[in-house]
Amino acid sequence: MKLFRIKEDRKGWASDRKYDFALKHKWEVPMVNCNICGDRWGDSAITYPSLDCSVLPNANRFRFKKTRAVVNIEEFINLRDQIKRLLSRDLPVPPGTQLGPMCGTTSGQHGDFTWDYSTTVFIHPEALRNLLAAGIKMPATVKPEIKARGKKPFEHLEIQTEAHALLSERCIKRKRPNCPACDSSGISAFIEPDLIKMSSIPEDLDLFRMRIRSNYIQVTERFVDAVRSLGLTNIVFEPTEVVDE
Ligand SMILES: [Zn+2]
Repeated sequence: MKLFRIKEDRKGWASDRKYDFALKHKWEVPMVNCNICGDRWGDSAITYPSLDCSVLPNANRFRFKKTRAVVNIEEFINLRDQIKRLLSRDLPVPPGTQLGPMCGTTSGQHGDFTWDYSTTVFIHPEALRNLLAAGIKMPATVKPEIKARGKKPFEHLEIQTEAHALLSERCIKRKRPNCPACDSSGISAFIEPDLIKMSSIPEDLDLFRMRIRSNYIQVTERFVDAVRSLGLTNIVFEPTEVVDE
């Protein structure tokens, strides 16, 4: 089995086209200052745009702030568990998890795929329809609240990239074991190349995120073949090794 990390096509399609975004998600899980492992951290690459925090009685605790909120471990666990109950499957909710649709503005020309930094990827509805028609198993997509600063409206959808793929312990150096309270990994370095555990690859998705190195989005070979045969733009593929673990 082969996997490929996806990225913006900076050297190709995007080299002579310009676009930009000014975006934020509606809500987020606060960062944690954990007194068990001593880490003060958050991971804002994990995002669930489909979640509606307004259904929570304490929705204000999740409101996105310019200066990010930091809470103690007891409060973090309480907030994290509220979000976990809203998810339809068992997925990671680290401190800093971004929630709700992306809001903001954009300008410029967008390809079939378009990117806010390397962590958030949007797809044009027509490209999505074509991939689904080709039998590609896509995660949920969400209509963002993004206003285009030009004449053409922004129609792309945010892909809810679920975090599944795990790295083999062979390519990780840890300063301590995973924290049982806040789930901080204790990783001090990565040993290249990345090796993804085959057992962590979801059977029902052709596109997903890594749990550690969560800004990396991986796709299957089926996905790559479909994108190439459809000629979809602003996406490139970098092979990642998969190991039988
Ligand atoms: Zn901790």
